[in-house]
Amino acid sequence: MEKLEQLYEGKAKKIYKTEDPDVVWLEYKDDATAFNGLKKGTIEGKGSLNNLISAHFFQMLEEKGITTHFVKLINDREMLCKDVKIVLVEVVTRNIAAGSLAKRIGYEEGTVLPLPIVEFYYKDDELGDPLINNYHIKILDLATPEQLAKMEEMALKINEILVGYLKDKRVTLVDFKLEFGIHKGEIILADEISPDTCRFWDADTKEKLDKDRFRRDLGNVEDAYKEILKRLTGQN
Ligand code: ADP
Ligand code: MG
Repeated sequence: MEKLEQLYEGKAKKIYKTEDPDVVWLEYKDDATAFNGLKKGTIEGKGSLNNLISAHFFQMLEEKGITTHFVKLINDREMLCKDVKIVLVEVVTRNIAAGSLAKRIGYEEGTVLPLPIVEFYYKDDELGDPLINNYHIKILDLATPEQLAKMEEMALKINEILVGYLKDKRVTLVDFKLEFGIHKGEIILADEISPDTCRFWDADTKEKLDKDRFRRDLGNVEDAYKEILKRLTGQN
């Protein structure tokens, strides 16, 4: 498979065409952004860490019956994926209050939620990815009610799988953001699952092993991402 012209450059990845119209080439970057692009930096090695971590999660989820865009790894920093039309709704699932939820409902960060919460955000950088509900999604025509129900159901199923899987690796899944896409008329899991898009806490020490280390200037960002890859695969 060959890498053809670049289709898009986002904040964390570049997307290229391939000779197969159904397949795109994803290249993960070391660039890091937070607070809707206000904070910018580079995390040495992040591109390859997130690529390998995402590939690992996608393969594991496929084995458990979740359809994802993942096709195969090309190298440490690049993977082939099914080309999808991204649904402009980011689906966030939360098990423990943190970040914007802790602020919005006045829960102390770390409060365990009695059941998982699913939230929808409008994927629009200019608007700052605002929280939206099914009414907004309907008037903005972002997804049909059936597609939305499917994304919510898949997010809860993925949460259940990831929570159990990570618990064995002594990692607590606090919350995470998913993006779905439409491929051949079907909703499938797309984008990435990485420390950029999840909150991972060490189950024993509660140490943060994710992008909050960058957002909050906690230091050792790269080490935290490396630690996640190591816990998942045993790789260094
Ligand atoms: P962003 O700056 O929006 O976070 P990223 O750099 O993370 O963007 O990713 C680049 C773009 O690729 C995003 O718009 C993302 O939704 C999109 N994308 C992810 N997976 C796929 C796919 N399989 N096919 C097409 N686009 C995808
Ligand atoms: Mg992104």
